[in-house]
Amino acid sequence: MTDHPRIPLAGVLGHPVAHSRSPALHGYWLRRYGLQGFYIPMDVAPLDLAEAVRTLPKLGFVGVNVTIPHKEPILQIADIVTDRAALIGAANTLIFRKDGKIHADNTDGMGFIANLRQHAPNWHPPAGPAAVLGAGGAARAVVAALLEAGVPEIRLSNRTRPRAEALRSDFGAKVVVQDWVQSGAMMEDCATVVNTTSLGMVGKPPLQVPMDALSAGTLVTDLVYTPLQTQFLIEAAARGCVTVDGLGMLLHQAAPGFERWFGQRPDVDEATRQAVLSA
Ligand code: NAP
Repeated sequence: MTDHPRIPLAGVLGHPVAHSRSPALHGYWLRRYGLQGFYIPMDVAPLDLAEAVRTLPKLGFVGVNVTIPHKEPILQIADIVTDRAALIGAANTLIFRKDGKIHADNTDGMGFIANLRQHAPNWHPPAGPAAVLGAGGAARAVVAALLEAGVPEIRLSNRTRPRAEALRSDFGAKVVVQDWVQSGAMMEDCATVVNTTSLGMVGKPPLQVPMDALSAGTLVTDLVYTPLQTQFLIEAAARGCVTVDGLGMLLHQAAPGFERWFGQRPDVDEATRQAVLSA
């Protein structure tokens, strides 16, 4: 039998997955760079995850993204887990290696920082504390990335306080847990403020937090990107803050996977944003 070249396949495993923007993004990059390959959304129920992931390489898949609710359970299935994915407790990017091993990484934190560096080039993480609202899966990646970027203190609030306490015990004493009702007050003197909750997203309740303690010049960002300009960002901008929307994080977190699977480092630029927004 001849060993013929196979068209590389990648995709995203989620449940549900129809809302994912990743197929539009990767499809755009494949066309832009004239590459052979396909990126496919796959709705996989939690009970089928292990079997699906073990079967995909046999079908020609070179890797996949994983999204809700598979980001945490995938760590038990992967053969190799990067240190940062282990620390965060979740993975979003899998590489199916030629030796049959499944390699799991988390690129959310990298995407979060790259988005801020691109759209707020004067942002200086060590300049002051960061206020982080929310303590879910995305918050863990954000907290890890902010600490790595040199933020001196992270004030963390979450509706369910024990979830925030768990982050403190995993990430150390630079994380200071505040009550959810302190979410506004804890923004005082912060250089960076991040909403990692799903509040403000289309179909979810708004994020209602007093913003009087915010100073002009503070970097404020929201992980929610539907809508692109959340009420939280609009109010922060009205107070003279530098604001960055969450779409760039989605684009940047996707780039390392695309490069590994399809052999081309993709550009994350205005054309990429527009391609995803218009899809
Ligand atoms: P998750 O693990 O389900 O966490 C959800 C967070 O939102 C928790 O902190 C939760 O608090 C909080 N929350 C939900 N409903 C609330 C309410 N009514 N009042 C107060 N807090 C509430 O989800 P995730 O994966 O961290 O994602 C969070 C958001 O980030 C989502 O909107 C997601 O789309 C977005 N995201 C964006 C990117 C990007 O690339 N831009 C990447 C990842 C995630 P409790 O713990 O109290 O429930």
